[in-house]
Amino acid sequence: MTVVAIDGPSGSGKSTISRQVAQQLGMAYLDTGAMYRAAAWWCVRDGIDLSDADAVTDAVRALPLQMGTDPRDPSIAVGGEDVSVLIRSTEISTVVSAVATNLEVRAELRRRQREIIEAARGEAGIVAEGRDITTVGAPDADVRILLVASEEARLARRAREIHGADDDSALAATRDQVLRRDADDATVSSFHVAADGVVTVDSSDLTLEETVAAVRGLVESRQDGRP
Ligand code: C5P
Repeated sequence: MTVVAIDGPSGSGKSTISRQVAQQLGMAYLDTGAMYRAAAWWCVRDGIDLSDADAVTDAVRALPLQMGTDPRDPSIAVGGEDVSVLIRSTEISTVVSAVATNLEVRAELRRRQREIIEAARGEAGIVAEGRDITTVGAPDADVRILLVASEEARLARRAREIHGADDDSALAATRDQVLRRDADDATVSSFHVAADGVVTVDSSDLTLEETVAAVRGLVESRQDGRP
């Protein structure tokens, strides 16, 4: 079945769009960013010094992570504990790039992502999303999409999501979460320019429904064998 890979910067709408497309097409959904967040949460909880690359690597290799792939309720548990809310805290958003720029951590989580994707390939198919998924996570996906949006649109979306407003103070508070995090993440992944064979969808001037329809159209035309 079809494997769809979607990447792009913070605030491009990756998670929301991917979930809706997966749900509409009856496919599984994998949020790879949640895996990096769970890894960061696990290290912070154990008091591990995030600048100690070897300690972080050892901890992540032992991470008892269970990723649910139902797009209606994508559960994330560590050792049986539901961490889906805990991993979205500002503290984790601030430190996650420190863990995600560790190359051994990336190799470990990528191995786990591939297992989940390959299992779903034999079943209903999957929409997998995250910074490096079209380039290194699932370069052999049937449909690969780079979802982009202007910096202005991305900041405004995240500000509304986190602070419920997009006035000047909310925008300023969101800058670290969007621009600084993307700058750090861009040192290890390329998600601003589409790699060969990756289709760019620009959501700056599209509504959520229009973006979902555009992505869904790309998946369906591929499934129908259209170019
Ligand atoms: O998408 P989300 O904001 O939840 O991602 C959290 C963090 O996980 C990103 O800032 C990045 O550091 C890391 N990440 C990554 N590669 C992915 C997905 C996420 O490095 N495929």
